[in-house]
Amino acid sequence: MTLDRRSFLAGAAGATATLLGACAAPSSPLPATAAAAPSLAGPAPLPFMIGQPDRTILPKGRAARVVVCGGGWGGLTVAKQLRLKSPDTEVILLERNPVFFSCPLSNKWLVDIVDTQYLTHDYLAVSERHGYRYLQCEVLEVDRDRRRVVTSLGTLDYDHLVLAPGIRYDYERWFGNDRRAIDTTRARYPAAYVSNAEHVALKRALHTFQGGDWVMTLPPPPQRCPPSPYERACMVAWHFKTHGIKGRVTILDHKDSIRPIGAGYRAAFAELYKDYITYVPNAHIQEIDPFNRRIRTAAGDMRFDHAVLMAPHQAGDIAWKAGAIGTNAQGKPTGWTDVDPQMLHLKTDDRVHVIGDAVGQVSPQFMFYPKSAHVANAHGHIVAQYLAERIGGRKPVTALPDNLCYMMVNGSPRQAISVQFDYTLNAQGVIEQQQIDDNDRREELVSENFKWAQLKLNDLFA
Ligand SMILES: Cc1cc2nc3c(=O)[nH]c(=O)nc-3n(C[C@H](O)[C@H](O)[C@H](O)COP(=O)(O)OP(=O)(O)OC[C@H]3O[C@@H](n4cnc5c(N)ncnc54)[C@H](O)[C@@H]3O)c2cc1C
Repeated sequence: MTLDRRSFLAGAAGATATLLGACAAPSSPLPATAAAAPSLAGPAPLPFMIGQPDRTILPKGRAARVVVCGGGWGGLTVAKQLRLKSPDTEVILLERNPVFFSCPLSNKWLVDIVDTQYLTHDYLAVSERHGYRYLQCEVLEVDRDRRRVVTSLGTLDYDHLVLAPGIRYDYERWFGNDRRAIDTTRARYPAAYVSNAEHVALKRALHTFQGGDWVMTLPPPPQRCPPSPYERACMVAWHFKTHGIKGRVTILDHKDSIRPIGAGYRAAFAELYKDYITYVPNAHIQEIDPFNRRIRTAAGDMRFDHAVLMAPHQAGDIAWKAGAIGTNAQGKPTGWTDVDPQMLHLKTDDRVHVIGDAVGQVSPQFMFYPKSAHVANAHGHIVAQYLAERIGGRKPVTALPDNLCYMMVNGSPRQAISVQFDYTLNAQGVIEQQQIDDNDRREELVSENFKWAQLKLNDLFA
């Protein structure tokens, strides 16, 4: 499973890098029967209906059924790979969004280095191509005792469940139950760390910014894609610099230093953006006032003209609804799922696997896998293989992911830095991590980044 940069590139060169599907218009998930007019003999029975979540969407047949909750990087991978590895298995992917939008590369999209079409992809075409069913719906509840998922379209029974819900923001850590403060923050100063309209709002804010203080609050670990907020800061600063905008990006970091690839980022901040980026470590958030645009932190206070307010991250809603969240020594929720580190199923339920960002602690050495698309994709491959083996009556063999991330730090010339992680199992059965930072910013890494993206997007959508 492990792939170092050199062998990844060799693979990429040989891969058929076809152009991916364009942004598709939202399509109705209703099958033809549901859309048909009622007959004169009375209304035709609908297989499901919005607003009737107690109705069975699709009765379960004899084939093993795997329901995948969440169609992001992990969910799309496991759905396709399972159909390839176990063609008789019925696979149903549940996803709230009508169209896929990639968070990886979205920082480059913010400053028009990649276009919208490159990041958006069609769920229906790929599900049809690989013979799994995509239902656009909201997952409302998971009843693990009855092996049933309740969605906004109706209910679905499963033999195996894969939870791939990504992350959600924990605004309550900042605002308690103050809905007005939460909603105002979301609406005016979105984090744009989950795939939805927040990215569009952030891009609009950047392209209409007239100058002044642009503040970014970085969440405490574990967080989605730790190096990417610094990449975003570089892209915003580069935009200010190239458009003559008198703006300054202040990074309020919860951590005591930049990591990973800290040396590469420090060099970029000092050498490229001395007049544009201020980095503040240990800036634990004490109070945020979105109405008066003020932030109080342990490292000092700040007022801002615009801000990217990134609240702490935790596993996405579905993991909470499935009762999959672990607890700490004090009995409080950890915020992340409680999984068997090697087999990635819940410790309390081996019919439920978790992949991607929602996965909880896997090692006492490094705690969490990096919450990256690369890892979510690798988890998708691994869990598809595990399930194919189990459904086929065989015992799965442990496999571990790897991780590789490229971060652009300069737009002209286009230069990136990168970080790679490899995982091995030691004699005690503990997963160990090796990290290789490539801090030397250069154009070659940008080419590698686009090859990586093409390879991975093909793996999801081709
Ligand atoms: C700015 C930015 C840059 C990044 N850059 C990189 C990079 O360069 N390389 C890299 O490897 N990673 C990168 N990442 C991280 C990467 O995007 C995530 O790690 C990855 O998306 C995780 O995959 P996932 O499947 O766990 O979650 P997601 O891809 O978020 O998928 C979860 C899906 O579940 C759906 N969902 C959630 N709740 C429900 C519900 N109740 N009902 C129905 N559907 C639901 C969501 O709509 C979503 O589609 C970046 C992230 C950001 C924000």
